[in-house]
Amino acid sequence: MALTLVWFRDDLRISDNPALVAAADRGDDVVACYVLDEETDGIRPLGSASKWWLHHSLEALAGTLEGLGIPLVLRRGAAGEVLPQLADECSADAVTWNRRYGLAERTADAALKESFAARGVEATSYQANLMYEPWEVTSGSDEAYRVFTPFWRACLAFRTPRTPLPAPASLRGPHLASDDLDTWGLLPTAPDWAQGLRDTWTPGEAGAHARLDDFLSRLRGYKDNRDFPAVRGTSMLSPHLRFGEISPFEVWHAAQDHGDSSTADDLRAFGSELGWREFSWQLLYFNPELATVNYRPEFNAFAWESSTQSELKAWQRGRTGYPLIDAGMRQMWEIGWMHNRVRMATASFLIKNLMIDWRVGERWFWDCLVDADAASNAASWQWVAGSGADASPYFRIFNPVLQSKKFDPDGAFLVRFVPELADAENVHEPWKGVAPGYPDRVVDLKESRERALRAYKALSEC
Ligand code: FAD
Repeated sequence: MALTLVWFRDDLRISDNPALVAAADRGDDVVACYVLDEETDGIRPLGSASKWWLHHSLEALAGTLEGLGIPLVLRRGAAGEVLPQLADECSADAVTWNRRYGLAERTADAALKESFAARGVEATSYQANLMYEPWEVTSGSDEAYRVFTPFWRACLAFRTPRTPLPAPASLRGPHLASDDLDTWGLLPTAPDWAQGLRDTWTPGEAGAHARLDDFLSRLRGYKDNRDFPAVRGTSMLSPHLRFGEISPFEVWHAAQDHGDSSTADDLRAFGSELGWREFSWQLLYFNPELATVNYRPEFNAFAWESSTQSELKAWQRGRTGYPLIDAGMRQMWEIGWMHNRVRMATASFLIKNLMIDWRVGERWFWDCLVDADAASNAASWQWVAGSGADASPYFRIFNPVLQSKKFDPDGAFLVRFVPELADAENVHEPWKGVAPGYPDRVVDLKESRERALRAYKALSEC
């Protein structure tokens, strides 16, 4: 009897899952597995918030697969060893998976393909998590695009994203020994910091589709609302996309089908955000060290200040004395997610007002975000630092006071995450009045801005 082993990775869904569909289409037995691989060289270990998400997402996927007729087999170890063992155990004659694009992941997958071929097992990979393969739409010189707009324009001209595939109706296959998810230690214990995450999110495919439906009902106005952190203006689909609980093809087509001529601008703006995700992955594909190495090498000479640990800690814990920065950092601490505009402001504050190396911030976000994504996080931090592709110009230093006055005029977002500001006389500039319990400012905005401009200017003159 033939059997296909389906290896789930960043695609924890049954809808629009080409690797699963291919296995089902063979008409034979199917074994579904997930391997927690913390051993293969170069694969970045998940941050704490992502581990929380993964636990619940695997629980949800296991339930969904049970409904189709097969269990999810969990194993732990280097995929290069675990997967061939599992294939032997169930006498698989074929293995399928959906592609990943980091260098360490690609290297591991290529080695596995070879090792399966040598054993006479057919291993096939599929496109599932990006609408455009990073190598499909390149710049004239066969490299990553350096600027977003021509990249996205070229993608849209190249091909309309394919329509999503339906989930298999049922599957059958043997039951194999599986790890107990609870023994993987993905959840926090003491302290249990995840209450805010539990209150906010429903990891898993059903949660992803509920989030999408909710967003579609608010698609009208996205373009204008997306900048206001107190407004539910964006989709909050990022962690679901990160773990592949919904595919970008599904999101793209659902939005297109829902939109009409009155939402054309909203649709275009939303589509282009999905495009930034694709752009980031193309950058990572061609620049595998994007999370640690300046995309623009001239930044290697940048004179980062060695700010004090207390300034870094104040930023991490949302105690800088600047309401927008503190509200954003506390939002991330509480719910594992931060609004995009506030991500830009908090990153700019760390890099340009505290003059701390962008890599320090990238690592903190990696640990705290439920949507921590190897490409989008690294590309965005480099974008803010000015060291990245299509980067923000060096003189663009977000002023947190002007930003909150403009994008959170009544301070609703500020007060929600910094409750001690509820009694402040001036919520945007609490130092101008009485603000009981709110910390003093860690730096002066004007002085720190001038210091950053001097450093950036010196770099541009090198
Ligand atoms: P929506 O506005 O609803 O956008 C829809 C989808 O498009 C998002 O779910 C996301 O997948 C994608 N998207 C939107 N904006 C961007 C962007 N600028 N770059 C890449 N993809 C985008 N996004 C992550 O998914 N993971 C990260 O680790 C991450 N780190 C970031 C770090 C910094 C410093 C900054 C400035 C941005 C970062 N972003 C990251 C991008 C962006 O902030 C989030 O994707 C967005 O806030 C997610 O919210 P949403 O799903 O409601 O977005």
